[in-house]
Amino acid sequence: MLSDFYKPGALPISFELFPPKTDKGVRSLMLQVEQLVKHKPAFITCTYGAGGSTRGRTLEIVEKVKTMFQVPVAAHLTVVGSSVADLRSFLAEAERRGVDYIVALRGDPPQGETTFKPNPKGLRYANELVELINDEFSELGVLVAGYPEKHVEAPSAEVDLENLKRKVDAGAQVIVSQLFFRNSDFYSWRERCEKAGITVPIVPGIFPINSLAQISKIAKMCGAGIPKQLFDKLSEKPDDAQWHKQVGTAYASQQVNDLLDNGVPGFHFYVLNQAEATGKILTALKGHQAKKKSGSPA
Ligand code: FAD
Repeated sequence: MLSDFYKPGALPISFELFPPKTDKGVRSLMLQVEQLVKHKPAFITCTYGAGGSTRGRTLEIVEKVKTMFQVPVAAHLTVVGSSVADLRSFLAEAERRGVDYIVALRGDPPQGETTFKPNPKGLRYANELVELINDEFSELGVLVAGYPEKHVEAPSAEVDLENLKRKVDAGAQVIVSQLFFRNSDFYSWRERCEKAGITVPIVPGIFPINSLAQISKIAKMCGAGIPKQLFDKLSEKPDDAQWHKQVGTAYASQQVNDLLDNGVPGFHFYVLNQAEATGKILTALKGHQAKKKSGSPA
């Protein structure tokens, strides 16, 4: 079972890829995955094309990763634009291709639209997709998304938490968090989840920043706050990509070390199809773990 990865003391890691648009892109991605698997991930996931542009590639990528590297894989799936029949057909194809898990999502409104409009023959919320998978495709383990700083559309953190609980009650086995940059947000959300009776593993999603422009856009889209100190540091050299990567990697390293000290069950890395930054963070994490074990100050 998926949640078995998160046994106390195990600290499994997972990596999230996105589908490249071209065959050449897929070939370069596999070279990155070759580097990533050296860190022995519990599983690797691939996103489901926002807006529908690349969704056909999701299953192709996860199947390739599983065949080439013998790592368990998860396909993301959103309900955006799909009828229930389309969702069933994707899930049946996923099972046929040997996919192990599904990251079950509602998805964002397509580009240019501000509100989510369900397909008239489709589903409205992620909890309904979790239900569908559990009822009809029970071989597939299910992960869902959670939001330490609340989902952008939710009227309050309390309502968002009730909706997260709905997904767990429908059968989600693991929660992966949206990216965040203040660990305190993650800790207070985790505490509220526990108080609400959520007992499945809550895994922090780690985003190694690699460009100021990119993170400003993403953070705005998903409602994640960037601490002023971090923003100022990145802005010291606004056009220097190397600087942004260096600052982003150092920041994420501090984040994961602190999260480890605060008892997280594992880590999910938004690797952005690049192995280097995540590799550096994991090497620093191993050093931190070794220091902790030997009892020397971290
Ligand atoms: P839901 O859980 O359905 O929540 C959506 C909104 O509706 C929330 O405000 C919630 O509070 C509310 N809500 C939920 N259930 C109910 C209910 N029953 N009644 C009333 N209100 C309800 N996007 C992609 O397009 N492709 C991806 O591959 C992808 N992968 C992601 C992976 C992770 C780990 C994360 C954190 C996000 C990912 N996203 C992806 C983004 C995600 O699709 C968006 O954040 C989307 O806006 C919400 O999806 P959800 O599954 O959390 O939705």
